[in-house]
Amino acid sequence: MRVRTAALVALAVLLVDLPAASASQDDLERARRQANAAASDVFRAETRLSRVQGQLADLEARRRATEQRLRGLQRAVREAAVSQYLRGGGGPGPLDVDPSDAAATVRAEALARMVAAQSSDVADAYRAAAADFAVVETRLSASRKDAATALADYRRRVSAATTQLRRLQALEADRIARDKARRAAAGRGSGKPTRPGSGQVIGKGDWVCPVQGPRAFGNDYGQPRGGGRRRHQGNDILSPQGTPVVAPVAGVATKHDNRLGGHAYYLHGTDGVTYYGAHLNAYSSNYGRVSAGTVLGWVGNTGDARGGPPHLHFEIHPGGGGPVNPYPTLRQYC
Ligand SMILES: [Zn+2]
Repeated sequence: MRVRTAALVALAVLLVDLPAASASQDDLERARRQANAAASDVFRAETRLSRVQGQLADLEARRRATEQRLRGLQRAVREAAVSQYLRGGGGPGPLDVDPSDAAATVRAEALARMVAAQSSDVADAYRAAAADFAVVETRLSASRKDAATALADYRRRVSAATTQLRRLQALEADRIARDKARRAAAGRGSGKPTRPGSGQVIGKGDWVCPVQGPRAFGNDYGQPRGGGRRRHQGNDILSPQGTPVVAPVAGVATKHDNRLGGHAYYLHGTDGVTYYGAHLNAYSSNYGRVSAGTVLGWVGNTGDARGGPPHLHFEIHPGGGGPVNPYPTLRQYC
């Protein structure tokens, strides 16, 4: 019931606000939906890319292991052939593998003749390993193609999402300018520009969206990342580089630079929840005790996000414990 009352109040606020900029509001809402859809496409492409890159890494490790085994067996086959020759057992002699002969094909043919001339366990093992190696090579070349396709698709999706975010940014700037003009015409609040900076509190409400500016996100919690070796423990909020990142609630903020997260932070909220944000372009000077909406830094792509689209990686840890999906909260407040 309280939820419904709150929704009605929100609706009433929206209706009161409507006459001034209704077309612009529609455009904004549509642009936000499109940006979020484009972000979800990015995350799906990222999941596919992560999977194929994981498969590729596994195959490359298998190729290395198979190659090493093959080399060991090659040596064993040569030694067996040499000792067979010295015993006078016939077959190809050591001169067939003249080490000064640089032509790989000649060496390979010589080795093949040695193997064919033998029926020992070592030759059988060599033949099996060579067959294994050929299979791995074939799979590797297919996997490399898959990875290249997935990477190209991911880059296309990132570029599409970036375009959507730019549109959203233009629409938001337009709306802010219009609101300002309206306030100036009404003769209030005409002077101060609201440029977000270090030390400034922006955003309002009991829970403030951590990215204050054009943003796009989706439900990418739990998706495989890092070549499928780990799960995504938060949501990525795509946003242009330099967009302010703020504390969603009051609490104590600490910097936490690390390899994966780059410039990252913890916010131990007065609501008993620990928040984690990562990949900041830069930190603000506001660490320690902060209020909701305090700027903690700016969106970037530091850490393992380097080279990828700028975004805030955002996690929610109730009671400072394991992470939960931030998506329902972000949907409500962002
Ligand atoms: Zn992330």
